[in-house]
Amino acid sequence: MEYTPTIGLEVHAELATRTKMFCDCANEPEAKEPNVHVCPVCTAQPGALPAINRAAVKQVLRVGAALGGTLATTYSEFDRKSYFYPDIPKGYQISQYAYPLVSGGTLAGVAITRVHLEEDTARSSHVNGQSLVDFNRSGVPLMELVTEPVIHDAATAGRFARELQLLLRTLGASNANLEKGEMRIEANVSVSKGDTLGTKVEIKNLNSFRSVERAIAFEIERQIAALEKGETIVQETRGWEENTQKTFHQRFKEGSADYRYFPEPDLPKLVLSEVEDLTPEAVAGTLPELPWQRRARYQSTYALKESDIDYLVESLTHSTFFDAVAEALGGEKVLVALATNYIVSDLAGWYAKHGGEEYAALEPAQFAKLIRMTAAGTLSSRGAKDTLAFMAERGGDPEAIAHEHGLLQVQDRTALTQIVEQVIVENPSVVAEFRAGKEAVLQFLIGQCMKASRGAGNPALFKELLLATLSGTNQ
Ligand code: ADP
Ligand code: ZN
Ligand code: MG
Repeated sequence: MEYTPTIGLEVHAELATRTKMFCDCANEPEAKEPNVHVCPVCTAQPGALPAINRAAVKQVLRVGAALGGTLATTYSEFDRKSYFYPDIPKGYQISQYAYPLVSGGTLAGVAITRVHLEEDTARSSHVNGQSLVDFNRSGVPLMELVTEPVIHDAATAGRFARELQLLLRTLGASNANLEKGEMRIEANVSVSKGDTLGTKVEIKNLNSFRSVERAIAFEIERQIAALEKGETIVQETRGWEENTQKTFHQRFKEGSADYRYFPEPDLPKLVLSEVEDLTPEAVAGTLPELPWQRRARYQSTYALKESDIDYLVESLTHSTFFDAVAEALGGEKVLVALATNYIVSDLAGWYAKHGGEEYAALEPAQFAKLIRMTAAGTLSSRGAKDTLAFMAERGGDPEAIAHEHGLLQVQDRTALTQIVEQVIVENPSVVAEFRAGKEAVLQFLIGQCMKASRGAGNPALFKELLLATLSGTNQ
């Protein structure tokens, strides 16, 4: 019998609110200078009283509504989670235990257990034998989302985490940057044969989606190998070491009883059905188009390829630009499809090669104009690519750029007819072959016309004019 791996994720995200969770200090955990955003509340001075940041509550409820979870309407509360650590000045963290803001929901096919609100810890660092604590991060609003143990492979866990990041950014709930610790993922992994789940191991220090996937894959193999050797898996917290691509033991896990959770007496209970802008209806009304809704719209409205849809939706920068371009093109399917090609291949390639902020110089309206010029034949696809490279670099009007660099396709029938006539005169034997019924040589003649125009002529127009001239109807 094969082993079945099982994974459950716990994700923390710093919420992008103006102020901290329980005081009016600025929410700027990344501030250069340490301990500038501090006050008696977030440094735990005796007698200081916390007050709930409503904006943070609202963001968690919006996440819950987007996931289709159940929002706490009649009762929710904060609890004290007691533990000793230098970066927890109160000796406890204000969190939620029995009554989270959100219960249930699904994301990327994965069942969600709960989403709750708590406060971030201060940041400690150890320099030259000294331990330093920066309280700028102390009390920053922190959302915690917990999934059910229903994931069975590393790739699904990675997909879930990426989709969650995209959702948080779409909602404006969090910047959710993993490298900056704005989004932190812990993976619980077990393996078992049969229906009963095995003992889980928790993995921390996962600073990228890739490490999430690799650490899970490593841990599954490690546990299977251990069980095969007759060892037992012990519940523990392991870290992920990027250098060796291995997990390593950090500590044995405390049970939840050790935290001595009890309701926070300094904060009021939450009855959200009585708070005007926090009822489920009010919250639902604040949701923007969600990533999966956007995918469905790109599919149904523009019939884009799945890989193109993924490229556009995976980044808000891409989809925002695409939407503006599509609007400037009046939503015309053929034009939007052409624009998509240039975004997904040429522009993506240009930014990959030259770097810089995507679309920073490029106005959607100017890009839309380039697409219209290409569709109309004013620009060849070669000319469009070259014009677009200039536009990506320094913006500007495609018509002016193409004109300045001689990239416009010549559409003037009289000028092109002269070239056609000259090519016919210079290639009597080919013309004779054509007249004898060998139609394939037309391509050669079009090629000669393009050459004579130094690539500036419109090949479709050359073809039309060649046929007309050869059949004698172009007099
Ligand atoms: P704890 O009480 O240790 O915090 P929870 O039951 O609250 O454990 O679960 C924490 C996380 O671990 C959740 O994401 C859950 O899905 C996951 N999990 C629980 N049991 C297992 C298991 N046997 N294998 C893998 N993941 C698990
Ligand atoms: Zn403060
Ligand atoms: Mg738990």
